[in-house]
Amino acid sequence: MVFDRVGAPLRAAELPKPEPGPGQLLLKVRACGVCRTDLHELDGEVEIENPPRILGHQIVASVEGERHLEGEGPRSPKEGLDAGTAGERGDAAAGPRVGVPWLGWTCGECRFCRAGRENLCERALFTGRDVDGGMAQWTVADARFCLPIPEGCPDEQAAPLLCAGLIGWRALRMCGDARRLGLYGFGAAAHIIAQVARWQGREVYAVTRPGDTGTQSFARELGAVWAGGSEDPLPNELDAAIVFAPDGALVPTALRAMAPGGTVVCGGIHMSDIPAFPYELLWHERTLRSVANLTRADGEEFLKLAPEVPVKTQVTTYPLEQANEALADLRAGRFTGAAVLVP
Ligand SMILES: [Zn+2]
Ligand SMILES: [Zn+2]
Repeated sequence: MVFDRVGAPLRAAELPKPEPGPGQLLLKVRACGVCRTDLHELDGEVEIENPPRILGHQIVASVEGERHLEGEGPRSPKEGLDAGTAGERGDAAAGPRVGVPWLGWTCGECRFCRAGRENLCERALFTGRDVDGGMAQWTVADARFCLPIPEGCPDEQAAPLLCAGLIGWRALRMCGDARRLGLYGFGAAAHIIAQVARWQGREVYAVTRPGDTGTQSFARELGAVWAGGSEDPLPNELDAAIVFAPDGALVPTALRAMAPGGTVVCGGIHMSDIPAFPYELLWHERTLRSVANLTRADGEEFLKLAPEVPVKTQVTTYPLEQANEALADLRAGRFTGAAVLVP
């Protein structure tokens, strides 16, 4: 499914099977999660510099080939890789499973890379933006940036862990030891992070669009102590909040809910303008910050932790060729949890 230009739907096309370059794996896509960032790309809010491009950055795939960094040429996928994580489909011939996240490549040399902050790398390449992603039957990815998929986790349920889960985890870490945690926008990321936060012993307060009672009861089922619309008063002050929804007006709303010293973390890659607000909302050592991208360390940490919770994702699956329907349903809020494409 190919992105051609802003404002156009993805186009179904038959393309040649990609060839892995040096250091890359040839991957057969088993599932690919749909993310709000994909909508931002379609709308031009996140720019794709060199279309056509295949979107999708929450890829669960089996390794079907590999090419060494030295360029020795393709070799068997079984050598040097743990074949014990082959997926659930009983496909004995399939190679080991890996996950491909948003962070596709970093330079390793810039001041951010050298300081363990490769999420901020000045020359980073992102999956499904700068390099082709997983809304396809086949893809390639730099082996060093692929992540292990938790054993026994079905492909479709693992896919949303790779962005919604990872970015959500990074955002949750920025909340420190906050006990009362607000989640503004209860989509794919929040439904995962609510489970982790509950497991950590925090109280979760879920804030949805006004009147979205379906999502509010979904949040309560996942252990939220309170769920309501963004116009409803909260029963308590919050110690931290993560704003996942791309609506800038939620930032002063969340700040207004903060106890002194509280932190508001913006978890999205794009947001509408934040309206002006009185300094009083930030006063008393409240913090407002964003999270950007992920590091490989975040990925390894979270994918180890997810089965311990255990995180159970709620997914709606679509055949790959219905990617446009999945994106439209995400935009309209027609499902709870996450959408996943299956080739
Ligand atoms: Zn994403
Ligand atoms: Zn760098």
